[in-house]
Amino acid sequence: MSTTANQLPIADRAEVNRTVGRLFRHHRGQLAAVAVLHTVAAVAGLVGPFLLGRVIDEVTGGTTLDRVDRLALVVLGAVVAQAVVTRYAQRLSMVFGERVFAELREEFMRTATRLPLSTVEKAGTGDLVARTTNDVNKLQHAVRFGVPRVLVCVVTIGLTTVASFLADPLVALGLLLGVPLIVVATRWYLKRATPGYLRESAAYATLNGTITEAVEGARTTDALHLGARVRRRIDADLREAFAAERYTLGLRLRLIPSLDSAVSIAPIAVVLWGAWLVSQDVTTVGTVATIAMYAHQMGGPVFDLVFWLDELQVAAVALARVVGVGLVGPDRVAGTAVPASEEVRAHQVRYAYREGHDVLHGIDLDLAPGERLAVVGPSGAGKSTLGRMLAGIHPPTGGSVMVGGVPLVELPLEDLRRHVALVTQEHHVFVGSLAENLRLADTVADDDRLWEALGAVDARDWAAALPDGLATEVGSGGHALSPAQAQQVALARLVLLDPHTLVLDEATSLLDPRAARHLERSLNAVLTGRTVVAIAHRLHTAHDADRVAVVDGGRISEIGPHDELVAAGGEYARLWRSWQHE
Ligand code: ADP
Repeated sequence: MSTTANQLPIADRAEVNRTVGRLFRHHRGQLAAVAVLHTVAAVAGLVGPFLLGRVIDEVTGGTTLDRVDRLALVVLGAVVAQAVVTRYAQRLSMVFGERVFAELREEFMRTATRLPLSTVEKAGTGDLVARTTNDVNKLQHAVRFGVPRVLVCVVTIGLTTVASFLADPLVALGLLLGVPLIVVATRWYLKRATPGYLRESAAYATLNGTITEAVEGARTTDALHLGARVRRRIDADLREAFAAERYTLGLRLRLIPSLDSAVSIAPIAVVLWGAWLVSQDVTTVGTVATIAMYAHQMGGPVFDLVFWLDELQVAAVALARVVGVGLVGPDRVAGTAVPASEEVRAHQVRYAYREGHDVLHGIDLDLAPGERLAVVGPSGAGKSTLGRMLAGIHPPTGGSVMVGGVPLVELPLEDLRRHVALVTQEHHVFVGSLAENLRLADTVADDDRLWEALGAVDARDWAAALPDGLATEVGSGGHALSPAQAQQVALARLVLLDPHTLVLDEATSLLDPRAARHLERSLNAVLTGRTVVAIAHRLHTAHDADRVAVVDGGRISEIGPHDELVAAGGEYARLWRSWQHE
């Protein structure tokens, strides 16, 4: 496992091999069936040349027309059998490829969704997105087509070689003449191909980026007279793409003739060498013909194999990046302790996004069950970071946040969410039915509970008016929910989760005021009876709270009821006065 800076890890070769081994083991029944079918097809393909060799020998030795006809019929039967078996073998290989790929993708999705948020934030979501899209796509082609194809090639080449040596080991030696050339040409090619193709895709990615930017920014470019500069960049990118393309084309231009001559040398060698052996009376013309035809038959699979080896190398790099995601260690280890109460306490909490740069400097905070605490302070003071600590999103770098005496980060995630939950402005509607969106919070909730939760957030009316009620497909491609409705769905999820403590981070500020007022009612219904930490960006919410905490420079500088803080005439009093004069 290797990591650069904060990037997600990349799996090493052993780890990749283990994954491939495990995938194949999971599908070994199907893998065996595919191998058997391809073997049968390959054996049927060997019958033709073998019998044609026999026909030649029998004709040379004198035989009846009837016998030749019978042999010809068997050859025909073998060809038909090969075609039929190949069809089923191909079909099964495709199914096998799809199954393996589906498992790989599901596994990837499971690990990706389970990644500690703190790790993803450090690595940047771009890295994860690239692995989810580019790398998975590269794998898709290789697993669907490459793995079955390589299997066929290996089986065909292996069996044909064995059959040649069984027919006559001495004549079959002629086959080996092409091997050194194939090995040399392939090694030469494979060493250069992967970096060559990687350079090519990188060059096209850059070119795409430059051109898209040039088109989207055309007005700015015109306004600032940057046309010549933009053109120079596009020209440079085009030159690089051209050079990269030319390089890989050059590789193929050298590989293909070498392979071509290597695979054509084999039948010629067999014929010349065989002819001499016939003249020495150690073999028959028929046997030489059989092996020459085998040598010819191997050409296609050898070509295929070399090209797929190259693609599989690229896929292995992609797989290493995909498997690497699963190597991220957990940012917490769940214990067995059960919280003794619903009291949330922060003790000397420190947090650093980057090592050595603390943004929270030892925060102490005790929340009384049922109280409402507003957190206020200048932007960048650490309010959101504190909120994330209190909700157990990130493990603190120092100190601890506990609920009922148990550190939040020692609770299993699903238990944690039943104690404290963070409510933010991001309300993603997942593709699926409305019921599925709600059941993310409670997988076993029945429809009545879902309706109850929707009712609690004032969303029962519009939900009931949906074409299929709870079963209506929502999210991208489905029935579009308004931002306010999406937020209500998120709030209904909270009702289902039923945590005793909520941390609100600017929960309603992005919505238009009318929707916000409506939502505030829904929100208040959810907040009733719970401990609430509201990260307030508008002071009127602070005014309504039981206590107000002023966060400044990563510390709580003042804390107490609104009236007391105003009377004390400190920082909060100043903020409050300036807000009232706005
Ligand atoms: P507030 O909510 O009070 O505006 P934040 O908690 O968002 O403050 O930010 C506190 C400090 O931490 C700021 O200096 C901010 O730049 C930094 N910060 C916030 N999020 C990240 C992050 N994901 N990575 C690195 N630094 C961050």
